[in-house]
Amino acid sequence: MSLLHRNDTRGAFPPSWYAATTDAPPLRPSLKGAEHADVCVVGAGFTGLMATLTLARAGRRVIVLDAHRAGFGASGRNGGQVGSGFNQSQQWIEKHQGHDAAHALWGMSQAAKDLVRENCAAFAGDALFRDGIAHGDWSAADCRESHADAEYLAKHYGYDQISPLDAAAFQDIVRTKSYVGGTLDMGAGHIHPLRYAVALAREAEAAGALLFDQSEVHHIARGSPAKVQTGQGHVMADHVILAGNGYLSGINKPVNARVMPINSFIAATEPLGDRAAEVLSRDIAVADSKFVVNYFRLSHDGRLLYGGRESYGLGFPTDITTKLRERFEGLFPQIKGAAIDYAWGGTLGITMNRMPCVMRAGPNILSASGFSGHGVALSGFSGQVLAEAIIGQSDRFDILSDLPMPVFPGAGAFRAPLLTLAMTWYAMRDRLGV
Ligand SMILES: Cc1cc2nc3c(=O)[nH]c(=O)nc-3n(C[C@H](O)[C@H](O)[C@H](O)COP(=O)(O)OP(=O)(O)OC[C@H]3O[C@@H](n4cnc5c(N)ncnc54)[C@H](O)[C@@H]3O)c2cc1C
Repeated sequence: MSLLHRNDTRGAFPPSWYAATTDAPPLRPSLKGAEHADVCVVGAGFTGLMATLTLARAGRRVIVLDAHRAGFGASGRNGGQVGSGFNQSQQWIEKHQGHDAAHALWGMSQAAKDLVRENCAAFAGDALFRDGIAHGDWSAADCRESHADAEYLAKHYGYDQISPLDAAAFQDIVRTKSYVGGTLDMGAGHIHPLRYAVALAREAEAAGALLFDQSEVHHIARGSPAKVQTGQGHVMADHVILAGNGYLSGINKPVNARVMPINSFIAATEPLGDRAAEVLSRDIAVADSKFVVNYFRLSHDGRLLYGGRESYGLGFPTDITTKLRERFEGLFPQIKGAAIDYAWGGTLGITMNRMPCVMRAGPNILSASGFSGHGVALSGFSGQVLAEAIIGQSDRFDILSDLPMPVFPGAGAFRAPLLTLAMTWYAMRDRLGV
């Protein structure tokens, strides 16, 4: 069974704290019969919805097809962290792409955060954008590296929003003794992601886009126009945007070879009341230096929203909570025994080098995916860049699509087991602290 259906109920959000606190519209109709569009967008997460909004505002007829519903995927169930930069350091990007492209890419990553901030201010106030992400370091070597990165960004990119923190200063904010220090980036932030996705969909519809839920695309017949086929209908479209991220498996071979799905899991505790301040003394989000990263923050009703476990097979484990509890109680023994009210998993796309995969996947087919856990800001921005390329401004698309994007080793049946093996190895190194 495909990932689209393996772990979720058809047309439904997962049982997350986000879904429980979002006023989502009823399911939209599914596509039936023949339609035509200037652009057909496959997938209604941040990537697809921001592409749609940009195109619809520019007067294009846009049809969006989602196998489940807008906001169903990673966009509606993630850690909400609107991080700075990319999953690789600027030094790494300079080494691979050169000075000018690295600076252009940094500028884009800043624009990506601004886009979320501006959208929240304009039409998604209930997504509660808040400033600040702290990064916790487990070892002195990690800490030296993160402080050096902060200094490098200030010196070479003029980004002065990151404060290096020693162990005491860090523990003052993040109330665990696990970290030997870290940084605080006040130019980054966090949001309620499902509310943001729902607002993006509403805004796209207001701009004239047509959204169809429960409309899984099974096949795209290339041509001009291309024919985008679902179970009960099709769209003839001059352009197609692929925005299915970790779920898109099988629809497009070039993307499929470069983007692999992995699963990540989040638990929401009961409201902690006064104990919330014993976990975090400020309303910021936190991520850390583990390979299987711990990421957490407080919800606006005082719960710990904690993510910190991955799985690399297709199916989610039957018991999600036990390991999540072990991990967050290890960090915060002071809330040991707190009830877990919600727990859920989600699927995201990763690439070999952890940079986003923005590419032309056919003459009139554009794709953006594989944001590798760094997509809350970058996915919507990349969607906007795909839209610009269709409208006729391709400079930002050219820079993003020029990033090296190796295919995953192995083919067919061997790909997933190879990935599982590699990721499990790194996760084990995490546990052993090597
Ligand atoms: C648990 C978790 C925590 C995360 N935490 C963070 C974080 O804190 N910060 C961060 O930056 N990133 C985080 N991420 C990653 C981030 O959420 C993603 O990078 C981003 O949301 C990707 O958006 P998207 O629109 O490309 O994909 P998605 O939101 O996954 O949307 C893809 C959509 O495409 C649809 N679809 C797929 N195939 C088809 C098809 N064949 N036909 C029709 N529809 C299709 C799906 O139904 C889905 O709705 C996290 C991800 C997960 C799962």
